[in-house]
Amino acid sequence: MIRKHTNYRWEGVDILQYKEDGSIFRDVTRQVLFENDWDLPCQWRYFEVGVGGYSTLEKHEHTHWVMIIRGKGTCLLGNDIREVGFGDAIRIPSWQWHQFKANRGESLGFLCLVSYERDKVTLPTESDIAQLKKNPEIKRFLEECGDG
Ligand code: MN
Repeated sequence: MIRKHTNYRWEGVDILQYKEDGSIFRDVTRQVLFENDWDLPCQWRYFEVGVGGYSTLEKHEHTHWVMIIRGKGTCLLGNDIREVGFGDAIRIPSWQWHQFKANRGESLGFLCLVSYERDKVTLPTESDIAQLKKNPEIKRFLEECGDG
């Protein structure tokens, strides 16, 4: 089977809401390219963050591998803020805070591989946010509007 690609849409794949858990995010879509296929108990998703948008700030036990395939942006990963762009491959380890922002004037699109069976995400409490903001770079990242 081949899912033909046109402009970041794949044949037979619906565009879904990013999340339905009430978490905080802006302008993110989700497409599921496959899930739990034969001997691959994984889900392979494409997320796209529109200009000025951002994914949920979260952590969880399960790991992600992410590959940027559209545009550029910035990610919070653990205690680091890193610029990311086309082709970059990013491992998000267990229990590390992570968030992606399309804050460099372009949409940010990325593939994200996860285990099909995985734990639910943990969202930050106010004290988690306060802890993260002790790092000035993270404070700036969390407080910027993201439209730059
Ligand atoms: Mn995650």
